[in-house]
Amino acid sequence: MTVRGKYDAVVVGARAAGAATAMLLARRGARVLVLDRARYGSDTLSTHALMRAGVVQLHRWGLLDRVRASGAAAVSRVVFRYPGETVRVDLKVADGVGELFAPRRTVLDTILVDAAREAGAEFVFGAIADEVEFEGGRAVGLCGRDDQGEEIDLRAGVVIGADGIRSLVAQAAGAEVTRRGGRSGAIAYGYFSGVPAEGYEWSYAPGVSSGVIPTNDGQVVVFAGGPEDVFRKRVFPRMDAGFLEILREASPVVAGRVEGGRQEGRLRGFAGVRGYVRECRGPGWALVGDAGYFRDPITAHGISDAFRDAELLARELSGELPGGSYQQLRDDVIRDHFDVTERIAGYDWTMDEIRVHLRDMSRSMKPELDLIESLDRREAA
Ligand SMILES: Cc1cc2nc3c(=O)[nH]c(=O)nc-3n(C[C@H](O)[C@H](O)[C@H](O)COP(=O)(O)OP(=O)(O)OC[C@H]3O[C@@H](n4cnc5c(N)ncnc54)[C@H](O)[C@@H]3O)c2cc1C
Repeated sequence: MTVRGKYDAVVVGARAAGAATAMLLARRGARVLVLDRARYGSDTLSTHALMRAGVVQLHRWGLLDRVRASGAAAVSRVVFRYPGETVRVDLKVADGVGELFAPRRTVLDTILVDAAREAGAEFVFGAIADEVEFEGGRAVGLCGRDDQGEEIDLRAGVVIGADGIRSLVAQAAGAEVTRRGGRSGAIAYGYFSGVPAEGYEWSYAPGVSSGVIPTNDGQVVVFAGGPEDVFRKRVFPRMDAGFLEILREASPVVAGRVEGGRQEGRLRGFAGVRGYVRECRGPGWALVGDAGYFRDPITAHGISDAFRDAELLARELSGELPGGSYQQLRDDVIRDHFDVTERIAGYDWTMDEIRVHLRDMSRSMKPELDLIESLDRREAA
């Protein structure tokens, strides 16, 4: 079936950034179409942990109950383990939210797509965007193919790239990279059942890290992280053995618990990608989520970033973003967080330094939370 038509917004990518942006625009009355080459409900690389900003947004959008109803474990404690020391932080209720969640992406992305459809957004899965069309320097539409090879030809008020790190929209628009990171870590992760977890459990030892993150179906995601060259040599060529070695180095206590559980499916690896910040707005185009900004997954913030971008862009396009542009507000709140992620992802810290970096990271999340919280107040003023 040939897909043609004129939309207020055409979005490439139907995951955290794209589906959320489509939902928010459709709720504001816009005619929106979203394309994704992936299938509805498909999985993607992720360890799923939402930070408070992400959970606050789901709550505000009326979707947190759906996440809870999916059986995603409610997390009310964060544990930091260092050699010889364990620090437990119990979460307080703030911004109407007392718990964190790490829903499987098959669950979270589906909730977002369903909510966007309920608001009137249209989705075409299994469809590839090939080309962004420009007239007089302004993006005006998009061409592509559906899963039968039929032509897709769309006109759009705005073309939104929610198409991840290899964003077609960013390339077509020539979005300038305004910051580039110098380091990246690598991780291997898998799903386990029968592994008790106190909450999100992060462990650090010289040159390595690990995490245990409760998700859906009574399972936990367990990851082992380290510098990319170490993973290239020690882990990826012998995944299961290398994963266990790094887990044991990061925390023998956690490794023992994981070894007492049952691994569900194979381990997955991520070899690392350098962080970047791109321009996220131009004539007739915008970027949200990883398309516009990527940093190492060690700080588990990409989904929360994508939600923030969706909220800021949808408000800007609807004329409801007082106090600055999407580009400016995004860049203000990500600056410190980008820097501290770089420091953590370098894995060249001492144990005293990683404690400082983690405190800095916690501090650097505050401006983003304040911004998200203030949006309704700004609008009312
Ligand atoms: C190993 C790993 C672990 C992570 N763990 C966490 C974590 O614990 N917590 C967290 O918050 N973040 C985590 N992240 C980061 C998080 O997964 C991303 O930041 C987030 O998925 C970004 O969402 P997005 O919608 O911007 O892009 P994506 O999830 O990359 O989605 C982009 C979509 O665009 C589609 N697409 C791309 N190009 C085209 C095209 N030309 N035509 C049609 N469709 C196209 C793709 O099929 C894809 O579905 C992790 C990342 C990795 C790699």
